[in-house]
This record gives sequence, C-alpha cells and structure tokens, in this order.
Amino acid sequence: TYILGIETSCDETAAAIVKNGREIVSNAVASQIDSHKRFGGVVPEIASRHHVEQITLVLEEAFNEAGMTWEQIDAIAVTEGPGLVGALLVGVNAAKALAFAKQKPLIGVHHIAGHIYANRFEQEFAFPLLALIVSGGHTELVLMHEHGSYELIGETRDDAAGEAYDKVARMLNLPYPGGPQIDRLAAEGCVSIDFPRAWLKDGSLDFSFSGVKSSVINTIHNATQRGETLKHADIAASFQASVVDVLTTKTWKAAQAYNVKQVLVAGGVSANQGLRQSLQNQFSNSGIPLLIPPLKLCTDNAAMIAAAGFVNYQQGKRSGWDMNANPALMLN
Ligand code: ATP
Ligand code: MG
Ligand code: FE
Repeated sequence: TYILGIETSCDETAAAIVKNGREIVSNAVASQIDSHKRFGGVVPEIASRHHVEQITLVLEEAFNEAGMTWEQIDAIAVTEGPGLVGALLVGVNAAKALAFAKQKPLIGVHHIAGHIYANRFEQEFAFPLLALIVSGGHTELVLMHEHGSYELIGETRDDAAGEAYDKVARMLNLPYPGGPQIDRLAAEGCVSIDFPRAWLKDGSLDFSFSGVKSSVINTIHNATQRGETLKHADIAASFQASVVDVLTTKTWKAAQAYNVKQVLVAGGVSANQGLRQSLQNQFSNSGIPLLIPPLKLCTDNAAMIAAAGFVNYQQGKRSGWDMNANPALMLN
C-alpha cells in the first residue's frame, strides 16, 4: 500500500510517498524559514502564499524522487489540523482536488498523530505506548493503547516547549527558529543559573513553561541593571536544563504509572540534543525502549503524515469531500 502524504500546517510545504506506513519512498520538504527569519517568526499570510507557490513543485518532486506514477498511489493523506488556517487550506484543497481528479480515497490526518508516527519508520510500536509530544505548538503526554487511539494524560497549561525555546531565543537576539540556536549555545555554556522547574501539584503530568520564561527575562533584566553581563551560553544551558529536567522527569513518572511497553518522543523539540541525551540516560537500563525520530523527521514533513494516514487507511477511516482545514482539531 502506497500513501501520498501532504503537509502544509505551518511553514513547511511537504509531500511524501510512504509504503505500508513504515517505509519512506520519497520525502520532499520546502522550508520557508528564510522568508520568516527577518520577522522573527512565522507570518501566516506569507506562509499561505509560499504554500500556494510550492505545493505543485513539491508534489512533483515527491513523485520524481519515488519514480512512481499516480496509478500506484492507494490514498492521499493530508494534515487537516491543527495549524495556521490559511496554510492548512492549501494542503487540504490540493489533496481534495487530487483525490477527486485521480479518484483516490481522501484521509484527513491530525498533525500531532503525524509527529507520533514519524517514529514508526524506525521501529514497530508496542502498546501501551507513551508519547511525549514537544513541538512549536504542543507539549503533551499521550497514552496509546492501539494504533490510531490517543489518550491525553498531560498537557501544557501555558507555553509549548518549542514556543518557550523560541521566546527565550528572541531575548538573546538569536534568529528564528530559536530552538536549534539555544540547543547549540547550551552545549557551550554552564548550568550556572538555577531557573525554576514547574512540577505543579499532586504529581500532575501537566506542564508549564511560562515561569521559567519569565525568570529568564528577570534574570537578564536584573543583571543589566547591576551593570553585569551574563554569558548567553550559560543562560541557554541553564534554561535548557530546567526544561529538559521537567520533560524527562514527567515522562519517566508517566511511563512508570501506566506501565508502558515503549516511550516515544515526537515534534520539533525532539531534535534537541539535551533532551535526547537526558531521556536516553533516564530510560537506558530501565527495560522500557525509547524511540526518538532521526533529526530530519523531528520537524514538519509529509512522510509522517502518510505514515499516520496509513493507519486510518487500514482502519477504513476516510474523509468526505466536506473535510475542511481545522486549526483547532483535537487528537482522538
Ligand atoms: P506543532 O507541531 O505543534 O503544530 P510546529 O509544527 O510549528 O508546531 P514543529 O515543526 O514540530 O512545530 O517544531 C518546531 C519547533 O521545534 C520550533 O519551536 C523550534 O524552535 C523547535 N526546535 C527545533 N529544533 C530544536 C532543537 N534542536 N532544540 C529545541 N527546539 C527545537
Ligand atoms: Mg516548522
Ligand atoms: Fe509540527
């Protein structure tokens, strides 16, 4: 079974062909990062326009790279939400038009299900499974008892992890996207500042990153007022230590509490070296296998959308012609 995946939820225009949900045949991604850099973040209107310009080119590339034709495609999977509505609409409309013209089943996919399924290219899932989702818009702990079923057991009460990284990066005058920049700086610094960790009450599996973010602002501000300069690398290392500590500890607790057979990490922040290292340390020798996607599959791509779409396809789930971009789509 070959699924064509399409992803346009944010600032990557992507198309990919995946075999049986686990084998990448082609994976084309056109990133818009350079166009958004000078604004310090993603500008929705610019994102939509770029998607319109890129979508057919990226689709062509996916077919060329695969050396395949439309006849060989069994279904079209597309990110239905969440994301920027104008950006999502480009992918959704392209998928609908193509599904109609080529007479292929249409499958709407939740973007975060896609991030989760980026892990299945490496290893088959074992249930119950715990997924730590850390991306630009989400920080969640999700329990899966079977393919395509998602139970939310923890989520952020304010900022997402990636959002916190990007905001702290901006305070340090680093270019967008800030996550990789902080990661790089952190490796050169010392954990010399004790930033707060939001554990929240009663063993909660929820997250909160607004406290550590404010603490970074205050620390920089106070140092400036005293005429001191803090090393940016030390701020980055200390901030990262706080975020990684909370993410690792809560993931570990949840894995124990639910007696899971596998833990996986998903979303752009799973590219973070500090987080990867810390989770590997925590789970090595624990008897619980840890799955982390290869770096190029951590951030947005369409292979992961095709992989998640394959599960829907197998389960007989199809979308109708009334499918619409849904910026607030729930994972369930
Ligand atoms: P969502 O998936 O929630 O809809 P998104 O698609 O915008 O949001 P992703 O593309 O999955 O998010 O991830 C982008 C985020 O990951 C950005 O916030 C970016 O700063 C962060 N990120 C990427 N690489 C790293 C890294 N090495 N360390 C920390 N953060 C990183
Ligand atoms: Mg992105
Ligand atoms: Fe994403």
